[in-house]
Amino acid sequence: MNNCLFCRITRGEIPSKKIYEDEQTYAFEDINPQGPTHVLVIPKKHIAGLKEAGAQDAELIGQCHLTAARIARERGIEDGYRTVLNVGPRAGQSVFHLHVHLIGGRPLRWPPG
Ligand code: AMP
Ligand code: ZN
Repeated sequence: MNNCLFCRITRGEIPSKKIYEDEQTYAFEDINPQGPTHVLVIPKKHIAGLKEAGAQDAELIGQCHLTAARIARERGIEDGYRTVLNVGPRAGQSVFHLHVHLIGGRPLRWPPG
């Protein structure tokens, strides 16, 4: 068993506000939300980040995005939301288990900071 924070969340060892779960993905509320909707969608498989992902992970990463789209639809925020992967510490990645941020429910500026 690894000690990764998000692996521990998928195993239920650390509490989270679960929104959706299927065989391969898990979605939960971000603890420090940056908008009315701020959900993290993660693969249950440990992948450190996008730059560590391989061709074998392509479908899984796609599934995480489709899970995000489904949650956005359910929440009625399809007039504008963003899916984001922060890659590397300089881009703000602080948890090294790949996660898709789903942020919406407010106007979003471009480019992000
Ligand atoms: P990043 O900075 O892209 O690596 O994103 C990590 C995200 O995980 C941040 O938005 C944090 O607020 C969030 N986070 C950290 N710990 C937890 C936790 N225990 N439960 C939910 N979200 C968390
Ligand atoms: Zn992990």
